[in-house]
Amino acid sequence: HLSKLPNIETTIFTVMSGLANKHEAINLSQGFPNFKSDQKLIDLVSKAMNSGYNQYALMPGNMELREAIAKKFDLLYGSSYHPESEITITAGATQAIYDVITAFVRADDEVIIFKPAYDCYEPSIQINGGKPVSIQLKAPNYQVDWEEMKQKISSKTKMIIINTPHNPSGTIFSEADMLKLQEITKNTNIIVLSDEVYEHIVFDGEKHQSACLFPDLKSRSFITASFGKTFHNTGWKTGYCCAPKELMEEFRKIHQFNVFSVNHPVQKGLADYMQDPNTYLGLSEFFQEKRDLFLSLIIDSRFKFKPSQGTYFQVLDYSKITQEYDVDYAKRLTIENGLASIPLSVFNDNQLDNKVLRFCFAKTDDTLKKAGDILNEI
Ligand code: PMP
Ligand code: GLN
Repeated sequence: HLSKLPNIETTIFTVMSGLANKHEAINLSQGFPNFKSDQKLIDLVSKAMNSGYNQYALMPGNMELREAIAKKFDLLYGSSYHPESEITITAGATQAIYDVITAFVRADDEVIIFKPAYDCYEPSIQINGGKPVSIQLKAPNYQVDWEEMKQKISSKTKMIIINTPHNPSGTIFSEADMLKLQEITKNTNIIVLSDEVYEHIVFDGEKHQSACLFPDLKSRSFITASFGKTFHNTGWKTGYCCAPKELMEEFRKIHQFNVFSVNHPVQKGLADYMQDPNTYLGLSEFFQEKRDLFLSLIIDSRFKFKPSQGTYFQVLDYSKITQEYDVDYAKRLTIENGLASIPLSVFNDNQLDNKVLRFCFAKTDDTLKKAGDILNEI
């Protein structure tokens, strides 16, 4: 038949946000804030438009923005990426992920992914003829069994995709996890794609374990990131990708024919905004308050949870309430109770259902209070 992705349906984010709109439900499903980006940033983008940043940016991105990103890596991780040759601005992390996979994965290559997995990894592997090899992380801890991963590595393993802080579970990798990954992949040609879009949202004083902190791991890693998640403007679809020069050269071969370059005034506005590091520091505290508010509201409900360690998602176990399939329950909760969430089974192999729903708490306190009231009454 004609389809290259016969088993792929409309993403759960489109389905649940659509259902939330239709039933005028509170939408804690798709991950985006319902509050505005900093006015200062909006003004800087507008200024960039008014001062002529309206034609193509350089193919790898606006140089000032690449320099600001390099400065950030130095400041936060003491790690250096050269703005000229090792950083590329992309149309969101999604495009960066697609291009990393497309640049390296050939027919029959294997790519190891951890389930539940963010939904764009698997189709991007398959469209390139690759084979996703999955490792199921088990609720409620979602810990990686590194021995299991070691056993899944074969002569065909081309890439491993990790994601910390992890969407959808809200767990983070520890330093020990990263060291294990570094050790297992040492002296191999395996490329690591480290999806770090929630790098600035880590709670309870924990530290984000970026792949760039581990020199041997860094030498074979791509890091993908998203300004939408950091500066509350997911609709701008701007992100970036970093990797050592030789890897980045391959990435850019794809990038230049996929989009060539991305939205220039947004890049210039972001570059000016990021001159002040306080714009991205302090995000963990901001979202930790939201997590804590949300959890304080449902502490006496029948939902069970472990507090999210990072991202702006909280997973809730509803097994004390009903044994319904999570997709059905998420839909019923939207239609009957007016609260939309994301069922986790869609990110698992064989729709494995652990009776868990994901709620996005990147919302105003007022919205979180309304959602809390609904969950308490169930
Ligand atoms: N990876 C993960 C884990 C995500 O949650 C998202 C959604 N923000 C993306 C990648 C894609 O990011 P973007 O919206 O910048 O394309
Ligand atoms: N990353 C967002 C989430 O996990 C949604 C992105 C999308 O709609 N594709 O909810």
